[in-house]
Amino acid sequence: MNNLQVDALVIGGGIAGMQAALDLGDQGFQVALVEREASIGGKMITLSKVFPTLDCCSCITTPKMSAVAHHPNIKLFTYCEVQALKETGAGFDISVLQKPRYVDASKCTGCRLCEYDCPKF
Ligand SMILES: Cc1cc2nc3c(=O)[nH]c(=O)nc-3n(C[C@H](O)[C@H](O)[C@H](O)COP(=O)(O)OP(=O)(O)OC[C@H]3O[C@@H](n4cnc5c(N)ncnc54)[C@H](O)[C@@H]3O)c2cc1C
Repeated sequence: MNNLQVDALVIGGGIAGMQAALDLGDQGFQVALVEREASIGGKMITLSKVFPTLDCCSCITTPKMSAVAHHPNIKLFTYCEVQALKETGAGFDISVLQKPRYVDASKCTGCRLCEYDCPKF
C-alpha cells in the first residue's frame, strides 16, 4: 500500500476529467486522476467525429491523453477504483484499489504480444 498526498483528486479520465486534471496541473497543483477502465479517454476516444463540427475525436483526445500521462503534476491511476473517502478536517483520505493487470506495466512497450497470446481474444 502506497500513500500519496495530492492537492486534488479527479475521478474519471474522460475528456472532462482529463481537461480538469490538465488545468489544475498547469496551475501547479498536484493532481491524482483515477480511471476505472484500463485507459483514459472516456466516451470520446471511442467516437469517430464530433457533432456539430465533425472534428476528428481521436485528434482532439489523444494529445490530451498523452499530456495527462506525461504531465509532471499529474499522477495517473488507470484500472483503479475509489473504494472509500473520509473527510479528515484537513482534507480527505481516499482509498484506491488497483485492479490486477497481470503484466508489469513498467516494462510494457505496447508490443501487444501478450494480447495475441491471451485466450480471451
Ligand atoms: C455514441 C455517442 C455519440 C456522441 N456524439 C457526440 C457528438 O457528436 N458531439 C458531442 O459534442 N458529444 C457527443 N457525445 C457526448 C460526448 O461524448 C460526451 O459528452 C463526453 O465524451 C463526456 O465526457 P466526460 O468526460 O464527461 O464523460 P466520459 O467520456 O463518459 O468519461 C467518464 C470517465 O470516467 C470514468 N469513470 C466513471 N465512473 C468512475 C468511477 N467511479 N471511478 C473511476 N472512473 C470512473 C469512465 O470510465 C470514463 O472513462 C456522444 C456520446 C456518445 C455515447
